[in-house]
Amino acid sequence: MTSKEIRQKFIQFFEKKGHVLAPSSSLVPRDDPSVLLTTAGMQPFKKHFMGEASPYGNRVVSIQKCFRTSDIDEVGDDTHQTFFEMLGNFSFGDYFKEAAIAWAYGFLTETVGIDKDRLSATYFAGDDKTLEDIESLKELEKLDLKEVRSSGREDNFWGPTGDEGPCGPTVEFYVDGVEIWNLVFNEYYCDKKGELKPLESRGVDTGMGFERLVTILQNKKNAYETDLFDFVIKGIEEAAGIAYGANEESDRVVRQMADHLRAIVFLIGDGVVPSNKEVGYVLRRLLRRVINQSLNLGNKSLPLDVGEKTIIHYGEVYPALLDKKDDILAVISGERDVFEKTLAKGLLELEKSDGKDISGWDAFDIFSTYGLPLEVIRDWAEKRGLKVDVAGFEREFEKAFIEHQELSRAGVEKKFGGHGLTGEIDEGDKEYLATLRNHTATHLLQQALRDVLGTHIEQKGSDVNAERLRFDFVHSQKLTDDEKDKIEKMVNEKIAEALPVVMREVSLDQARTRGALGVFDEQYKNLKKVKIYIIGSEENPYSTELCGGPHVQNTAEIKSFKIIKEESSSAGIRRIKAATG
Ligand code: ATP
Ligand code: MG
Repeated sequence: MTSKEIRQKFIQFFEKKGHVLAPSSSLVPRDDPSVLLTTAGMQPFKKHFMGEASPYGNRVVSIQKCFRTSDIDEVGDDTHQTFFEMLGNFSFGDYFKEAAIAWAYGFLTETVGIDKDRLSATYFAGDDKTLEDIESLKELEKLDLKEVRSSGREDNFWGPTGDEGPCGPTVEFYVDGVEIWNLVFNEYYCDKKGELKPLESRGVDTGMGFERLVTILQNKKNAYETDLFDFVIKGIEEAAGIAYGANEESDRVVRQMADHLRAIVFLIGDGVVPSNKEVGYVLRRLLRRVINQSLNLGNKSLPLDVGEKTIIHYGEVYPALLDKKDDILAVISGERDVFEKTLAKGLLELEKSDGKDISGWDAFDIFSTYGLPLEVIRDWAEKRGLKVDVAGFEREFEKAFIEHQELSRAGVEKKFGGHGLTGEIDEGDKEYLATLRNHTATHLLQQALRDVLGTHIEQKGSDVNAERLRFDFVHSQKLTDDEKDKIEKMVNEKIAEALPVVMREVSLDQARTRGALGVFDEQYKNLKKVKIYIIGSEENPYSTELCGGPHVQNTAEIKSFKIIKEESSSAGIRRIKAATG
């Protein structure tokens, strides 16, 4: 069965069941600021689960272009791509578990003929907050499956995204132990307190990985061997004069290149251009990896050659790609030229290392300043018999990345390319500034808590967005009104004092002697330098914390601070939610 036939079968199956085909939305969501890229088929339909009428009616089928930056390190394995397509059927207050489960099973076993012995399913086991999903179990028991298992919240419960919203149990279908199809049953509304109320209009949202389905139906080991990718692999083989399948290590590189080349074509096709922030940076990172690999393989026109083949091949399903062919190729060759210049500058910087091994910090610095990928730095060092502290680099990278993720829920993601490449700050962006305010206020809050409650106060979690800050800390009792007043007052005093906020890069020992708060754990151990943020004078600071930033430059920018809520987060841990501005 060709991938084209599989597309048709899926659409027709659900059209026969009263669904209307909705075309794939752009990879770049137009009207959803909460996400950078479309990561699931349901994303364009979020509003219809919240009650807004769908122009396609209450039963919709789609094949949605998706992109998951979170899976970038998985790429090259047998089951994950950055760009992939998701098959989905949706019910907005229409059918529910019984039909959705029966149809999924019917499609898999009858329409495309997957052997029942290869098929298993999981459903939600229930926990102290939510009942076991007995309804789904009842439906699954009607089917002939190899195994039905229950599983916890992590695997079989979805949502809410953010503080509140629709959520519910899920059923997952597996083929030979690999997850293929996820069925989400939105049946609760989770409010800000975490309490679940039955939704008036229940819904179904499903997502099946197209690449995984095609792999199974074409009896292949992974998607790269299917007709979704085989021409890309062949293109790389021809352009680079190498053979795929000869060596596992180089095969993985070829698979990564194939993934990235296809993703690049689709990202540019949806209007993304390389830059140092937002999606532009995601694209730049993929492009540079591919360009660098191509240079290593001795063919700098590989990305253009294989990119063109990809456009033509996928143009059959996504004709818009054909219209944009010249633009897409122009972006690829433009980035190649920029990268070649960058490469020259970064290499010049590397020359300064003077025959010494490259520390993780230096590698990360060159990476984040010049955009020189780690692969390039390693290649360069290898040729000179030098070592690169890759683990150290990864720790730096992760820190920048985690920091980036923690701050990314609201507007900030839009301003940061991530991974150390910061974009310029748009002064007009209120959301961004609000998040900075909340982040700096979190530091003031931690210090005030220690001043008022004692030095046993230790951070257990923190989450910042444009609307509020949330801070979890070790403390056994509920805060009294008096304590809360004192803390609030103290933070507001520090805001009124208009204290400067500065960042310093120091050794871990120096950070310790300067009394920086923070988790001095393994990940920092081997770093030459860490970032600390100091609020107040450097000689006699009010607050010093190990932190990657970013922050406001002066506490006056925070304007005011108010505790919205103090509650228990879990045993022995309290949670404060507060707002600024
Ligand atoms: P996994 O645990 O295997 O990464 P997931 O739980 O992240 O999967 P979902 O978010 O439920 O997956 O997405 C629905 C379906 O999309 C999955 O069942 C799978 O078939 C497919 N899928 C998810 N991530 C990828 C990816 N990176 N590449 C290809 N297909 C994917
Ligand atoms: Mg995943």
